[in-house]
Amino acid sequence: MKRTVVIIGGGLAGIAAALRLIETEYKPILIESSRRLGGRATSFDDPRTGETLDNCQHVVMGCCTNLLDLYERLGVLESIAWGHSVYWTSGRGEIDELGAGWLPAPLHLAGAMRRMKLLSNVEKRHIAKAMWRIIRMGSKGRFEWRDSTFRAFLDHCKQPESVITRFWNVIVVSACNLDVDRCGAAFAIQVFQDGFMSNRFGYSVGLPTTPLRELYDPAISMIEQGGGEVRLGCSAKALAYDSRRITGVNTLDGMIDASAVMCAVPFDRLDKLVSSTLRKADTRLQKLDAFAYSPILGVHLFFDQTIMELPHLTVVDHDIQWVFNKGVDEQGRQHLHVVISAADVWMDLDEAEITRRLVKDIHSVLPKAKGLDPIRVRVIKEKRATFAPTPGIDSIRPGPASGTVGLAGGGVPNLYLAGDWTDVGWPSTMEGAVRSGYAASEAITGQGGLVDDIPTSLLGLALGLR
Ligand SMILES: Cc1cc2nc3c(=O)[nH]c(=O)nc-3n(C[C@H](O)[C@H](O)[C@H](O)COP(=O)(O)OP(=O)(O)OC[C@H]3O[C@@H](n4cnc5c(N)ncnc54)[C@H](O)[C@@H]3O)c2cc1C
Repeated sequence: MKRTVVIIGGGLAGIAAALRLIETEYKPILIESSRRLGGRATSFDDPRTGETLDNCQHVVMGCCTNLLDLYERLGVLESIAWGHSVYWTSGRGEIDELGAGWLPAPLHLAGAMRRMKLLSNVEKRHIAKAMWRIIRMGSKGRFEWRDSTFRAFLDHCKQPESVITRFWNVIVVSACNLDVDRCGAAFAIQVFQDGFMSNRFGYSVGLPTTPLRELYDPAISMIEQGGGEVRLGCSAKALAYDSRRITGVNTLDGMIDASAVMCAVPFDRLDKLVSSTLRKADTRLQKLDAFAYSPILGVHLFFDQTIMELPHLTVVDHDIQWVFNKGVDEQGRQHLHVVISAADVWMDLDEAEITRRLVKDIHSVLPKAKGLDPIRVRVIKEKRATFAPTPGIDSIRPGPASGTVGLAGGGVPNLYLAGDWTDVGWPSTMEGAVRSGYAASEAITGQGGLVDDIPTSLLGLALGLR
């Protein structure tokens, strides 16, 4: 008889955990309150048109080794189109292409940086100095900055304001969903160390070529064929706790008994599942109210002709931060997706005002769009997009299993936690979510665990990057 693990939450963390558990003597029962898997990284049928739209463009980076491992298990790796250039524009018609040259990592992007027209030579020298600092401090050095903002680090490196707004903030706000004034320095430094410097592939941009939800379609049959179960439309209401261990999960459809329970839901959802007795018994559940969300605005725009050829644009000096080219249909209509991270000020604006501001920027950065209005717009405000990776938050992110010391001390032994906000050492990303699922599954079974990162280049190692 296989022992049953109920996994609450069918986002990437829950899917990843279930796929690892079926390889062992455990039987996962994955319960998901919505009618499909994928959580925040999925698609929906737009009730206005019936069309399938992603809730937001989701970018995979080359350094996301665990996410790519999950895609490989699901057999959908081919659905990711890779680009090895990042295109930047400030809207004056000039486009800078940031891509690897012939130098080994961590210097592979230096040539392209030197050619960037967006930045003056003085600005580039400032960036080079701070980059050198980031390389030499290594992963240990960034730990020393864990309680400071990235702005404090940049000030320490004497970075001028123009460089902060036109370079550092552009990358940090997209990767961490907080601007440099609020983002924890260790999170931001990690993005540059692991994503842009450690090896030549880490910064590459992967974009799904199918609606996001199709990436998870194979998961249900794989879990079922592996002896597990997937219950869609099933909401957990409470964790059943007998003062010693979790005995199961109370759902709207009744009680599901379990040998162990993994909560793979965001912190505020977990908070709702926990009784005061359980909270007292497990220190990991006592600081859930210290986490906060940061919002993202995603807007689908449809034009009646092709106005953008590149796969994406990173935009500076404008409100819009990224424009993604989602393709052209048989009638020649182009679908673009605009993303604005850390979008607090956009949440109270109505669709008409958001569209007005976005179209102004689109006209400015895409010369072919001049004078054209979109034929259709769909605004998606994700108020609860990601947890806010603020300074010091890492110290209260709970681990997958109850431990014996600190925040993980004195926990309930058969309660496991997963989700992008748990202690995975990454900001709120799909990679973080998959890492958490793999780690929680390993904590239960003692098998599996994380896959290796791409090795750091020899030059990187020699310079102390790791
Ligand atoms: C707009 C937006 C843009 C993003 N862009 C990127 C990007 O470009 N790259 C990137 O890497 N990441 C991006 N992210 C972050 C990424 O989507 C998340 O980090 C990741 O999907 C989180 O996965 P998860 O499994 O931890 O949580 P979730 O995806 O939130 O999954 C939790 C699941 O639990 C379910 N659930 C909740 N409560 C219950 C309950 N009581 N019972 C049963 N089920 C329940 C929910 O329905 C949900 O499906 C973005 C997020 C958003 C919102």
